[in-house]
Amino acid sequence: MKKQTQAIHVPYRRRDAYDALSMPVYNAVAYEFDNAQLMADAFCCRIDAPDYSRVENPTVTNFEERVKVLTGANSVTALNSGMAAISNTMLALTSQGKNVVTSKHLFGNTFDLLNNTLKRFGVETRLCDLTNMNEVETSIDENTACIFLEIITNPQMEVADLTALATIAHAHKIPLVADTTTIPFTQFSSHNLGVDIEVVSSTKYVSGGATSLGGVVIDYGTAKGFSNRMKNEMLFNFGAYMTPQVAYMQTIGLETLNARYRVQSSNALELAKKMQTLQGVKKVNYVGLKENPYHKLAQQQFGETAGAMVCIDLESQKACFNFIDNLKLIHRATNLFDNRTLAIHPASTIFGLFSDIEKANMDVLDTTIRLSIGLEDVEDLFEDIKQSIERS
Ligand SMILES: *Cc1c(COP(=O)(O)O)cnc(C)c1O
Repeated sequence: MKKQTQAIHVPYRRRDAYDALSMPVYNAVAYEFDNAQLMADAFCCRIDAPDYSRVENPTVTNFEERVKVLTGANSVTALNSGMAAISNTMLALTSQGKNVVTSKHLFGNTFDLLNNTLKRFGVETRLCDLTNMNEVETSIDENTACIFLEIITNPQMEVADLTALATIAHAHKIPLVADTTTIPFTQFSSHNLGVDIEVVSSTKYVSGGATSLGGVVIDYGTAKGFSNRMKNEMLFNFGAYMTPQVAYMQTIGLETLNARYRVQSSNALELAKKMQTLQGVKKVNYVGLKENPYHKLAQQQFGETAGAMVCIDLESQKACFNFIDNLKLIHRATNLFDNRTLAIHPASTIFGLFSDIEKANMDVLDTTIRLSIGLEDVEDLFEDIKQSIERS
């Protein structure tokens, strides 16, 4: 059977008392045991049975197992947000005196986590150009814990060569960790390209249209002891496990992920092409466009589709604000891969609290609008963009 079929039919670990077809929400904190020995075995991980929902819950386990089937991973850990997935992964991999080699092009909170929060605990972050392999190579030393990157950076839309980065990481015996939020793991195998640990904000494509916050850490079993630490240290001590209600919603989201993604990515490509014809749009930044500098590499790595995030550049910040204010259908909101199309001005929002110099260093421009393309009809979306550009 193909992975998609298997994932929809992942069996429960135990038969449900009522044979419910969808995984029930086990809204329980604790689980009873028949005797003291079984209880001791469960608590000491000698048998696989849930004992407390901070670290294991049947509804969440079922969600994790579906992600495992879809990715072929060794182990999957579900957390309560994308940031929890990223921060717990970093806390599992690093310690005082270690460093992380990464890009200056990062999601705003990830940038802050690495450059401010982890710094307070003695972990250094080395920002480099991940498309320049010499720079990556010279940034690594014996204290480097991992290379961390985002597969399509936001909003710069930079794509790094995963195979080349994996070669460097593995030569230094460190894991390559990738935030793959921008292209669903059902579309490409990051592990085949050399990624050891994948982190995903499941709030985005997986949740099924912005139903809930979540994050997944997908471990391909190549980083020694990592999953053990995630399951037996991070979940216990930081308490950021996914909740059963969220796992239920995100399981349903997983079932429709491919269908939604096909429409959203094809809408994004069609709109990107159409927006190139609009006067007032200085640039359309989308790796699905043939003329994009990362088009070929993106195609090699991710396949024919390029996701549903499209950036456009207008004349000025004023033009961007006017554009956002004049939209009638497209929503003024953050988030990615909602069923609705969303527009945001990253420089004044997601990156709004960074200084002008910091923004310039991150290549976050005040002329950029980020669009997340939804499931609407493309004609309607284009009409809205067109009227808004004309009035701006
Ligand atoms: C949204 C996002 C995150 C953070 O995820 P949350 O679920 O909001 O915590 C991290 N990385 C990328 C690339 C994102 O788009």
